[in-house]
Amino acid sequence: MRLAGSGKVKDVYDAGDGTLVFRFSDRISAYDVGFGQPVPGKGRALCRFAEFWFGRLGVPSHFVGRESETEIRVRRMEMIPLECVVRGYLYGSLAERAAGDPRVPAGAPLASRLPSPIFDPSTKAEHDEPVDRDGAVSAGLVDGPLYDELAARSLDIYGRMSAVAAGAGFILADLKLEFGMLDGAVTLGDSIGPDEYRLWPASSYGPGRVQEAYDKQVLRDWLRSAGHKEAFDEARAAGREPVPPEIPQDVISLVYARYAESYRRLTGRDL
Ligand code: ATP
Ligand code: MG
Repeated sequence: MRLAGSGKVKDVYDAGDGTLVFRFSDRISAYDVGFGQPVPGKGRALCRFAEFWFGRLGVPSHFVGRESETEIRVRRMEMIPLECVVRGYLYGSLAERAAGDPRVPAGAPLASRLPSPIFDPSTKAEHDEPVDRDGAVSAGLVDGPLYDELAARSLDIYGRMSAVAAGAGFILADLKLEFGMLDGAVTLGDSIGPDEYRLWPASSYGPGRVQEAYDKQVLRDWLRSAGHKEAFDEARAAGREPVPPEIPQDVISLVYARYAESYRRLTGRDL
């Protein structure tokens, strides 16, 4: 199989028959920085999450099946160049740019539930930039009707996944999806798992503070508290590439432990 591309986390192979094989590596990235150290077992975990979510969602997707412990097969699509983000809670980059956004109540505390989930897409540029309907249309990413369809589908999928998460005692705070065109129809693509969403235990949830993360936020929180996120921003502002720090072993272990625990609670099975 031909290696069609290597992302920060997946290696994508083209089988040449209209399908691709995604091989999930143990690599981890955050804030668009790739780290030298692997998270052992992460690729296998993400592969299982993809299988679980695509199987569970009940919406058309590119997913064909799981091929091995770390690989899934998908139908090759023409991808739509929009990262379709849905947010049900005020967190992450939205919390930093919420002032003046009519969809966010003025003065809402960090991690508070939004009055209703919002579609908050970003570009697929090297560092994703938030973009609204007019911006996406004028940049030629999508036309208006396609934007509206992506919004409706993304919100629908967020609702379905939230219900599954709630059944396992979790809050699905937000989610990133990608879509493509398959046989003329808008179809769900890419992958779904703890690198694509934020998942919080309902039992320890409370607004106004950082939440307990069962997703990649574990690493982001450490990068912030140790001052590395600031250093990344400073490097980029100065036109330099950020230098990835060494991640402590206990952070690496915690990322894996949280992925495994959420898989167990969501699916009733061990990884
Ligand atoms: P990164 O996630 O590291 O920022 P990336 O998104 O390019 O970079 P990956 O997520 O590892 O890298 O690779 C997946 C790539 O495959 C993405 O560009 C995604 O848009 C694309 N893709 C997802 N599903 C399909 C599909 N069915 N057909 C074709 N391309 C797809
Ligand atoms: Mg990606």
